[in-house]
Amino acid sequence: HQTGDSQLDPAARPDAALSLAPYLPHWQVAVYLTGSSSTFFSGRGFIILTGLLLTIFLAAVLLGGALLTWQAHRNMLDARRKTTFVSNVSHELKTPLTSIRMYAELLSGDRVNDPEKTRKYLGVIVEESHRLTRLVNNVLDFSRLEQGRKNYHLEPIDLNGFIRELLENHNLRVAESGLALLVSLPEGQALVRTDRDALGQALLNLIDNAVKYAADGGELGVELQPGPEYHEIRILDRGPGVPVEHRARIFKKFHRVDDSLTARQPGSGLGLSIAQRLMRDMGGDILFEPRRGGGSIFIIKIPVNSRKTRS
Ligand code: ADP
Repeated sequence: HQTGDSQLDPAARPDAALSLAPYLPHWQVAVYLTGSSSTFFSGRGFIILTGLLLTIFLAAVLLGGALLTWQAHRNMLDARRKTTFVSNVSHELKTPLTSIRMYAELLSGDRVNDPEKTRKYLGVIVEESHRLTRLVNNVLDFSRLEQGRKNYHLEPIDLNGFIRELLENHNLRVAESGLALLVSLPEGQALVRTDRDALGQALLNLIDNAVKYAADGGELGVELQPGPEYHEIRILDRGPGVPVEHRARIFKKFHRVDDSLTARQPGSGLGLSIAQRLMRDMGGDILFEPRRGGGSIFIIKIPVNSRKTRS
């Protein structure tokens, strides 16, 4: 009896044999290595197998090397980004701190006798400390968002009143920059359920940007456009706008159009990315549109029927 269908030469000697005596005298179990398997382990088959193993080994070494190089490159970029971030943030904090110190020194030196000037300087100090708080909040929000620890407290808010109040509290900085504030709010209430601080932070980040990058444009528009699904707050300026190749990236963390050490305006590249993440977490969004005739439009979308927040 034979298993397998190889043709056996009756004269061939088995490669291994075992006698079954005394249970079955004259019977034996024999093994014949057939041509195909024996040639596989000899000659060409062996070379193919070795070649294959060698190729796999070389591919693994090359892939490992490439992965290590890529990882090292990423670590280097990360380290560079962290250094730039720390120096950018410090640089950004320095500006309001310098103003606060300067005006406080002026007031404490008894050199200002005009009550109007005193009021103005105090106003600058208050405004600049608000800005300082916002910058620190941006960094804190950034780390909370990165670690998924950001909490939102949704409450009913009338956007009309909210925007009016926010602009009243912060109009000094806009006025100082020489921008004419053009506000357009509809009649009646525009109710939403949103987190007051998060919306305020997002809106002020956009206004801060207009003051920083579009002061030459002469005007800053703040408009509220109610809609059936989303109410939109639009921030319009007549600044340089955002170059086409940067439009998709300005909302990415750390991205700045001018990230050179000699950048005219200090910044960390976090403002837009945080503002957009805050609004998206609350079911809304922030979009950019180029403005006809030059400048930028940033649109904050706030859902009318707020869904659950993401965190
Ligand atoms: P930062 O202002 O700290 O650099 P942002 O995330 O707020 O970071 O903004 C990212 C980049 O988008 C800015 O560096 C700037 O180049 C560009 N940008 C933002 N707002 C405006 C604007 N109103 N006009 C022109 N460019 C802007």
